[in-house]
Amino acid sequence: MRGSEYRVISPYAIMQKPVHVSALPLDVDVFGTISKIHPVLLWDENGATLIDTGYPGIFAQLKQALEQKIHSFNRIKRIILTHQDWDHIGTVPDIHQALNGQVAIYAHAAEKPYLEGRLPHYKLTPERIAKRVAATPEIWREKARSTLSNPPRFTVDYAMTDGEILPFHGGIEVIHVPGHTPGNICLYVRSERLLIAGDQLRLDNGTLVGPAPEHTPDMITAQQSLKKLIRFDIDRIICYHGGTYTAHAASKIAELASL
Ligand SMILES: [Zn+2]
Repeated sequence: MRGSEYRVISPYAIMQKPVHVSALPLDVDVFGTISKIHPVLLWDENGATLIDTGYPGIFAQLKQALEQKIHSFNRIKRIILTHQDWDHIGTVPDIHQALNGQVAIYAHAAEKPYLEGRLPHYKLTPERIAKRVAATPEIWREKARSTLSNPPRFTVDYAMTDGEILPFHGGIEVIHVPGHTPGNICLYVRSERLLIAGDQLRLDNGTLVGPAPEHTPDMITAQQSLKKLIRFDIDRIICYHGGTYTAHAASKIAELASL
């Protein structure tokens, strides 16, 4: 038998209950401009996990998209945040309230002090806010200023570490990829050979690229972080900005990591 025809099925895989995965494409009106984002929902008979939560103010839109997949919003057991950026954490307080606090918030240990308000937001500096506001149509400027000056703050219930396997949906590996933010992560869903890339990878007109330089204060570290993704057996990638990518995913990552 040739190597390529031989596939080991681990006992773990046989025991594994089916996991459902859905990228939830949302078109969000952000101060007058449409932004398409892709939070990810994973679910099985034990409940659902939401990965990233969209911009502030879109709770109703997100909830509707979630309910189309899992019918009952109450099936959400936990939220995993890939990083602290405002377009990823915006509805955490709304979800927490809607579920009467019965939802666990996960983030990398290095993001926890920012998310809990013990450190100022890594990127929402007065300079960056002023720049963003200046680029916003005038009628939205005041709204932009107040939204960006007051990002959501909340308790992180579980601080993740690099290499940790989260024990749900067949095992999800945490990959710490600093640079875009200090505690930026990707997630590897073993049973699906799926990489949930957050902002570490993006699709730019269909082409897989690394993190956006204008939103990545430490590009050197971010580029080094790409190398950590090479060892994973990846069939499919979901980028928060761009959606699903399948064309030779692993070799494309290796190519980007070698730049
Ligand atoms: Zn980001």
